Amino acid sequence: MKIKKILVANRGEIAVRVLRTCRELGIRTVAVYSDPDRNSLHVSLADEAYSLGGSKPAESYLNQEKLLNIVKQSGAQAVHPGYGFLSENPSFAQMLEDSGIVFIGPTSAAIRALGDKTAARKVAQSLGVPTVAGTTEALRSDEESFRIARQIGYPILLKAAAGGGGKGMRMVEDEQHLQSSLEAARSEALSAFGDSRVYIEKYIKAPRHIEVQILADRFGNVVYLGERECSIQRRHQKIIEETPSPVVDEDLRKRLGESAIRIALAAHYVNAGTLEFLVDAERNFYFLEMNTRLQVEHPVTEMVTGLDLVREQIAIAEGEPLHFRQTDISPRGHAIECRICAEDPAHDFFPSTGTLLRYKPPQGRIRVDNGYNEGDTISVFYDSLMSKVISYGTTRCEAISAMKRALSEFEVEGVETTIPFCQFVLDHPAFQSGAIDTTFIQRYFTPSSLQLHTEEENVVAAIFGAFLATSSRLSSPSSNGVRASGTKSNWKLQRREGMQGW
Ligand code: ADP
Ligand code: ADP
Ligand code: MG
Repeated sequence: MKIKKILVANRGEIAVRVLRTCRELGIRTVAVYSDPDRNSLHVSLADEAYSLGGSKPAESYLNQEKLLNIVKQSGAQAVHPGYGFLSENPSFAQMLEDSGIVFIGPTSAAIRALGDKTAARKVAQSLGVPTVAGTTEALRSDEESFRIARQIGYPILLKAAAGGGGKGMRMVEDEQHLQSSLEAARSEALSAFGDSRVYIEKYIKAPRHIEVQILADRFGNVVYLGERECSIQRRHQKIIEETPSPVVDEDLRKRLGESAIRIALAAHYVNAGTLEFLVDAERNFYFLEMNTRLQVEHPVTEMVTGLDLVREQIAIAEGEPLHFRQTDISPRGHAIECRICAEDPAHDFFPSTGTLLRYKPPQGRIRVDNGYNEGDTISVFYDSLMSKVISYGTTRCEAISAMKRALSEFEVEGVETTIPFCQFVLDHPAFQSGAIDTTFIQRYFTPSSLQLHTEEENVVAAIFGAFLATSSRLSSPSSNGVRASGTKSNWKLQRREGMQGW
């Protein structure tokens, strides 16, 4: 069946990204929006737009009944859920299935089998895919928790079975802290996911987060599209991702890819999906969880494979077989993504809200997946992600230089952003050498690193400034505005000229 009209049940950059592919395919599009999103970019890019009303997600983008009514009213044949919101909600997928609407994602049964972390761990273990030591059932009692934690050995991690987005996770250093952590983890899980079940995993020290993108059609064909390294994280949430991983060689890539395929096949998985793994210092890998949806960082895979994953998702949902085999996939070059979030890196990445008084994403030789216009308001209601900058190079070094250049041109005023943090990482010798793991921030970053970084820049700026004053090669400095506060010096303009040599 050819899909002619799709409703995109999301907002921000991912709604925009999905709408664009639909347009390229000649598919009519339906946007939905909450009250604060009335004039947003995703609304202006759709053929039709319907109000969900409300501000909070529960009133708007999570309101299944309203969404179903709009699907019917608009005559959309299919729903693309993006990520977050209802993308991994089996009852939403089921409701659409029951109404004869195509969910551009896996079946509700596959979401049930793999979306719950304990269930997915069971599937992996039954196939002999290594998982992090821990339980495959939610903890039943405090006594059981103490016994298992002692067996596994501290530190341990308490995790919400229904968790996601880095929420519902608690590291417990020793037995003394277990009781209070259990209580806190359960109530956190209940309030975040409406499900208090928690389980235990061994806490792996300084792992890398490496994940495998797969595509699976209805005919049992599954391919893996290489890996993504997502070890630069804050609050257990990714902030910079890249492909290929600096530590994955052909052999490890094949073993990760084949493990991913085994899990997908066992669950009769259909759609794009991602299998997340932790990789320790000895390059042992452990299956972590599966995300049964498109991921935030999917563009890096698109850059090196040349595929459009949303186009593939739609073809799969239409019942098409994959049009390539594993042997046809040969990623080229290197791609990096920086998440530009409205957060303050100087204050523990606290969400920053306000009006985008100035907002000019960079252009030229890079990809920007953006969800906002200048003048828009960043509210407390939704995720802090504003846009993603994706760079490409034939080598990792080239991709890093391209990203540095692009971020130096990104102008934001009105909210704090993660741009200065990303610049700190890109300039860090450990990142440049590829020696990264999920403790990068803990190990190398303090708010004063931003300060130091800035002071270093100011010294460079002063030297260049003096030089330029005498040679008067540059006239007025362009407003650079990299810091949200707009206080950034104009040093980057000059430094760009000297950047090739780093
Ligand atoms: P990815 O795994 O694609 O890198 P993230 O973990 O950054 O994605 O999550 C993407 C978005 O989805 C974020 O807005 C996050 O808060 C949200 N999210 C992810 N999983 C869940 C979940 N189970 N429940 C609610 N929100 C989630
Ligand atoms: P979410 O559903 O929130 O994405 P994940 O299970 O994918 O949760 O874990 C998110 C991040 O938390 C990982 O990338 C990693 O940094 C950290 N993490 C998760 N489990 C462990 C573990 N057992 N040991 C150490 N770090 C972990
Ligand atoms: Mg995860």
